[in-house]
Amino acid sequence: MSLLDSGSLSVHRLLRRPTRIELFRVLDAGVHAGVVRETIRARDVGVYVHVPYCRSTCMFCPYFRKVLRDWGELNMYLNALLKEAEFYGKLLEDLNLEVVEVHVGGGTPSLVPPHFYKRFVEKLSEFFNVRCGVGVEANPEDFKNLKVVEDFYASGVDEVSVGVQSFDEKVLKSVGRRHKPEDCVAAVENSVRAGFKWVNVDLMFLTPTIKDYVELGLEEKVGAFRRDLGKSIELGAHQVTYYATIIPKNSPGHRLAELGKLIQEVDAVDRFVEEALEFAEGSKLYLTRVYSISRKPYEYATVNLEMVGPLIGLGAGAWSNTGYYQYINVHDVANYIKLLYNGMTPAIYARRLGEGSMVWRLLFDQLSTGVVREAVFESMGLRTPFRVRALLKLMELSGLVEKVAGGYKLTKRGVLEVYKSVINYVADVPVKTTGTLSKQADVSELPLKIAI
Ligand code: SF4
Repeated sequence: MSLLDSGSLSVHRLLRRPTRIELFRVLDAGVHAGVVRETIRARDVGVYVHVPYCRSTCMFCPYFRKVLRDWGELNMYLNALLKEAEFYGKLLEDLNLEVVEVHVGGGTPSLVPPHFYKRFVEKLSEFFNVRCGVGVEANPEDFKNLKVVEDFYASGVDEVSVGVQSFDEKVLKSVGRRHKPEDCVAAVENSVRAGFKWVNVDLMFLTPTIKDYVELGLEEKVGAFRRDLGKSIELGAHQVTYYATIIPKNSPGHRLAELGKLIQEVDAVDRFVEEALEFAEGSKLYLTRVYSISRKPYEYATVNLEMVGPLIGLGAGAWSNTGYYQYINVHDVANYIKLLYNGMTPAIYARRLGEGSMVWRLLFDQLSTGVVREAVFESMGLRTPFRVRALLKLMELSGLVEKVAGGYKLTKRGVLEVYKSVINYVADVPVKTTGTLSKQADVSELPLKIAI
């Protein structure tokens, strides 16, 4: 079942319907490489790097990660990343591709020695025309130290997303984060002072109340979220991204939910998103995504290209999408290192994506930005099919979009609906896939097909 229940109108059900995907085991590395080459049809590509290491495990973490205990293993992992970059570099070198974004997510990319990122871009530049700097997600515990932040900046990192989550001590406690509000303030201030071209602040809302541990009422949570938005901009952040807290089955904190110790007001998601929209309007900020507001129409976006591609994902747990072929790397660090050191591909599951899938992905990607234009479909050589036009018409009749020159724009109600459909998609697909694949450490025993 989806995290957020469906509404009564059919368009609401369509937007929030659970997504089901089937993935097939990658059995032949040569065939995989051939399909990657054949299905990249755009010249501009994004690169995503997954760093799965963290200092500790947060209570409701839905991502693929592990606690960093062995720096020797981290070094081998970083070398394996360079090997994987080289593999795809050699494979695609003669296509003259331009790398237009490099984002590093995790895990905790700020745990990696900063000079690695310089080396990584040098490696990419052997094969691609790299037209961008590197964006990394940073933990406030690392970025509270100005010298560390300056070292990242000096290593070619020019965008940062600080994992603040909240400046409120009780909210941080309720999501099991170890850092303190003062670490958050220092990390954002240091990032702005160091000169990064773009500083994003990640915030979490819909945080749970945990009985006998940290008890916050809905109004207190909304108030803390309002203050968090204001504080982020006051400190100089260029962008704020706000996520509803998901409590997945594979997170350490899910046991509390099973014991009935958690209260999460899932029906109140609109309250928080409305708060963000009002704040954006009052502060003259742009709505760059339904979950993101910015000072300029520009966004720090870790894996947006995953939706339409081409995005080359590197690292254990990384997802890639050439546009017409999606593949997922092994979700196990030891296996990832072993496969690359033995000259084998870490891609373990894949699926072909047809033109129909591309049309829907392009539609939902555009909906998440708030505006849908037919010209975008045409620029990719795609016709807008009848069912997409029908959905947009239905959305217009339901008051979720309004016509603008060349397309449709989300109304406030539309933003709320699309926000919930994005959260449901994240809970339905990436989070469930991570849960399923993280359990399968033995590569030789992976099933030939999995359905998520
Ligand atoms: S939430 Fe972030 S910092 Fe916490 S365990 Fe997960 S990846 Fe690591």
